[in-house]
Order: sequence, then structure tokens, then C-alpha cells
Amino acid sequence: MPVHEECPRCRSGVCETHREVAIFAIASLLFPAGVYVEYFTPYPLAGTLLLLAAAVIAGHDVLKDGLLALIRFRFNIAVLITIAAAGAFLTENPAEGAAVLYLFAIAEFLEEYAAGRAHRSIASLLDIAPQTARVRRGDEEVVVPVSEVTVGETVIVRPGDTIPLDGLVTLGESSVDQAPITGESVPVAKVAGDGVYAGTRNLDGYLEVRVTKSEEASTIARVVALVTEAQAHTSPTEAFIERFARYYTPAVILAAVLLAIIPPLAFEVPFIEAFYRALILLVISCPCALAISTPVSMVSGITTAAHNGVLIKGRDALEAVGLARVIVFDKTGTLTTGRLEVDEVVAFGVPVTEVLAVAASLEARSGHPIAEAVMRRAGEEAVSLHDVEEFASITGRGVRGRIGGVTYLLGNESLFPDTGAWRVEYDRLEGEGKTVILAGTDSAVIGLLALSDLIKEDAEETVATLKARGIRTMMLTGDGERVGEAVARRIGIDECHAGLLPEDKVTMVERLMERYGLVVMVGDSVNDAPALARANVGVAMGAIGSDIAIEAADIVVMEDEISRVAYLVALSEKTISVVRQNVATAVVVKLGIAALAVVGFVTLWMAVAFGDMGLSLAAIVNALRIGRPGS
Ligand code: ADP
Ligand code: MG
Repeated sequence: MPVHEECPRCRSGVCETHREVAIFAIASLLFPAGVYVEYFTPYPLAGTLLLLAAAVIAGHDVLKDGLLALIRFRFNIAVLITIAAAGAFLTENPAEGAAVLYLFAIAEFLEEYAAGRAHRSIASLLDIAPQTARVRRGDEEVVVPVSEVTVGETVIVRPGDTIPLDGLVTLGESSVDQAPITGESVPVAKVAGDGVYAGTRNLDGYLEVRVTKSEEASTIARVVALVTEAQAHTSPTEAFIERFARYYTPAVILAAVLLAIIPPLAFEVPFIEAFYRALILLVISCPCALAISTPVSMVSGITTAAHNGVLIKGRDALEAVGLARVIVFDKTGTLTTGRLEVDEVVAFGVPVTEVLAVAASLEARSGHPIAEAVMRRAGEEAVSLHDVEEFASITGRGVRGRIGGVTYLLGNESLFPDTGAWRVEYDRLEGEGKTVILAGTDSAVIGLLALSDLIKEDAEETVATLKARGIRTMMLTGDGERVGEAVARRIGIDECHAGLLPEDKVTMVERLMERYGLVVMVGDSVNDAPALARANVGVAMGAIGSDIAIEAADIVVMEDEISRVAYLVALSEKTISVVRQNVATAVVVKLGIAALAVVGFVTLWMAVAFGDMGLSLAAIVNALRIGRPGS
């Protein structure tokens, strides 16, 4: 048995794959030798024995399964193959009997190779992260294995080094190539406070990084684990085949029996010939090639996506994206950058700085993009903050807290009474397409803040691409009607629904699902989580650095780049079309061979070579095409 360095099971001496390779190699010698001796030497009996040996060795698994199933009177694919092979030997076609098992083994081998290849291609991402890290301990810098670095320690990353663990930059400035995780090769600038990830490459600067996650919890390890799981979910086709085969196999056997009996009785066809054709029918009915055509394509699609920074967590999600005719986007942070700017602060009866101070004090504990903008503005104007008690966030509407014994509210108009002097200013600013939030108590508004957000550069093009593919685009936002409409019009979104609370977004998604069937929802922030979960497929944008998003969504786009949604749709449509091509080819070829077999033009080995192995190979080659750009 060949021992293979990278294979842990080999080292412990029980590697299935390598045992299979060895067995397969032996069968590959015996089979041609048997054919030669059988037909080209005067010792056909010796040839038959060699072929029998080749058959048993190549087909040991199938034969074992087939016989066990037969004894228990269960019918599966192995039964079909076993009967066909045994029938061939009994009717003195030993070469064909061996060919059936040998070619079937090749088909299984190809299938495993394809699955293994996809798996290795993802697992290789983990190899990118270095095995050791340079850690500061006391006054010293020591190089230790990454598994020995604890959370909270500081690692030193020099120019050109690959970052060993996830963490936050504490010192230095650099650009980092995050392609292994995001698929985006344009370097990202990193300064103190930014997150960096294991496996990404520090290009030009010196960085000190405080480790925030252990080796196994790193983003890249999570990605590899999730993709591997998604691949595994799709690759064993057994569950489906087993269920299918329970009814299908007995039906095929019955048909074969009839094909062997009726023609000799009714049309005086020699029994041996009818029997042989019945065997071909058995072989051709084997749905293996048909069954692998879907999973190999799906695995290929999932793997390709992962290399492009799009994590697809299952075959259902990949399929649904390509079939959905509606894609729903969240606005803030998804179609817009979410990096808002406070443009204007208006005060009513108090100093402007007081409005800003109240707003910033309340926002200090909120993680919303609006909060960030307000805090930044307050910092620029050097306002001093008040102490806040009883802080609470009112999801999708704003925040609340007590300052000096008075309860203040900050957020959209739904938190305040309908009318007031603020109306005029509010309408003016909102008319300009700005997000306006109000500050005040429950009886009086003391001021308002107008914020603007930038639309993402690639939003318009992405929406145009999707529309060209016949997909209806929609936007859901908690922001006001006029802001929503303005953004929707600029981007070219078909339909906009504004003023929605997080639970309204869920209701909206449900209504769309009723109306359009499959609905894909694309969102970013935590408050989109319920809607993302409710949609058939939830796509989380810019999820790098957010464990919650990575765990919760069906599809995770690492980079905050909206054009990846168009990529995703294209990939999914391509995958679906490859699946359809594979299935259609398999059905057509099998029917064709079956028709030819009935009139006696096909031999048993041809049926296996073209009707099973050839089709498996074609399905795999076609599936690998998914990963190639432009095909
Ligand atoms: P979106 O759906 O656009 O992502 P959200 O649901 O996060 O928006 O918020 C909807 C609206 O609620 C915001 O436009 C804002 O008016 C208000 N809001 C939410 N959180 C805050 C906050 N922390 N401070 C002020 N206003 C907020
Ligand atoms: Mg949002």
C-alpha cells in the first residue's frame, strides 16, 4: 500500500482511497491480460480465470453489496450490476462480465476523484495560513506554532509575511491582500483598529496585531469548514439513489425478465440472445451517471464560488439563486456604502451643539451606521458627551436614554408626535434625499440631523445586469419614503418599499414569496437577519469580520461588493444549465443505447463504457467547466 504524506489515514494504515488505487491497478493489469489470453491464445480457460479474477477484484465492493442485497431481497444498483456481470459469465461472455465491473469501478473512481479534487481545492486554502507566528512575549519576540498563540497576545507581522491569525491591528499601517478570503485581489489598507485575517498577506508595511481568535476559530477555518460541509452535503448521492432504486430496480429487473422470456416464446428469438439483450437493459438502466451529474456540478459551483469570496452553504441555495425571479435588497449598507455623513444639524430653541451632544451621547452605545456618523461629527466639533442611563435601542426606529433625569429619543419620525415646527425643515431636508433623524423628548423635538449616504459605485450596473437577466429588483428600507424613492430611482431598482421595521421586512418577504415563489434577499446588518432568514435564500454582504453573518446566512459574500450578487446569479444559472445538460445527455444516450440494444447492435461492454462510465466522465468534465471563466 502506498503511503502518502498528506493523507492522515494512510499514516495510520487504513486509507480507503489508496487501497482502492492499489486494487484498481491490479484489476487494470488482469483485465487486458485476460482479454488477450481468452481471445488470442489457445488457452481460453486460463483467460476466463484471469477475467474472473479481474472482475472479482475490480468489482469486490459492488458484488458484495449486490449479493448482500439480493439475499435480503432488497434491490439496489449493485444488484443490477451483479446480475449483469454474473449473466455475462454464465452466457460465456467473460470479457464482457469483467468489463461491466471494471468500467463501473472506473466510473466510481472518477466520481470520487472529482469530489476529492473539489475538497482538496478548498482545503488548500488552509495551507495558506502559516504554521508559526512571531509573538511578543515580555520584551522578546518569539516564533511559536500558531496553535500555541493565545487570544489577546500580540503578533508581529513583517512586510511580505502572511498573517497567521485573525486579530485587530494595534500598531502600524499597511496594505493587505485578502484574496484568499474575499477573492478580491486589490489590496486593502489597514490601520490601527482594523481587523486582519489569517491567510491574508501583508504587503508593504509593518503591523502589530492583537489576536482575537484561536487558530480553529479563524475566518478562513470557518470558511473551509462550511464549504466542506456544503460539498459533503451534495456529494453522496446515495440517499436519493437508494430511495429511487427501491422501486426502480425491481421494475427494471421485471422488464429484463420479460425481455428475456417473451421474444423467444413469441418471435422465436434464440433464448441466449434475448437473455443477453436483457442484461444490456439491466446495465443501461443503471442510473449512476445520471445521479452524479447533479452533485458534481453543484460541488464545482460551490468550490468556484468559494475561491471568489462567495461562500455558498448548500446546494439548495446555489440552485435557488439561479431560479429566483426576484431579488430583494436592503438599502443602507447594501446598496449604499452605509458610511453616512452628517450634513446638517438644525436646532429648535437650544444651541446646535446641545442637539449634537444629546444625539452623540445616545448613539455612543449603538452600532448603527447612523450612530457612527453622528459620533464622528461630534468628535470633529469636539462636543463633550453627557452621561446616559437606561439606554435602549429601538430596532429599526432609533435609540432612547435618560440624560440628567430626562428621557430623550433619537430616531425617525415614528418616535415623535406628528406635528410641530420641525415639520418644515424635516420635509425640506428629506426632499433633498437625505435621511433625517429627530432628537427630543416625548413632548418636544429639540433638533434634527440630516445625513447622506453614498450609493455604491457598482450598484447601478449590478441592478442593470440583473434586470437584463429578467430578474425583478426590489429595495426594502427602514428609511423614509422619499429617501428610498430617490435612491431606488438613481440605481434603477424596480420597486421600493420604505419605512419598514425589521418585522415589516419579514412580512414583505413573505408576501413576495407568495407572489413570486423563490425570493432572494440581500442584506448586511444585524437588523436584516430576520428577513434574510425568512427568504428562500439570504445573502449576507461584506461578511468578513462578522461571525454572525457568516453563520446565519445561506450565502455569504465576504467582500462588501454588490456586483458579486450578479456574479452569484450568473454562476448559479451556469450551474443549473450544466446540470440540465448532464441529465439530458444521460437520458438521451441511455435511451439511444437501449433502443440499439433491443435490435441487437450493442454489446454489454459498450453499454457500460458509453452508457455509464463515458457519461460519468462527460458529466465531470462538463461540471469542471463551471469554474472556468467565460465558458
Ligand atoms: P435600513 O433598512 O435602511 O438598513 P434600519 O432598519 O437600520 O435601516 O433603520 C431604519 C431607520 O430607523 C433609519 O433610517 C433611522 O431613521 C432609524 N434608526 C435606526 N437606528 C437608529 C439609530 N441608532 N439612530 C438613529 N436613528 C436610527
Ligand atoms: Mg441595513
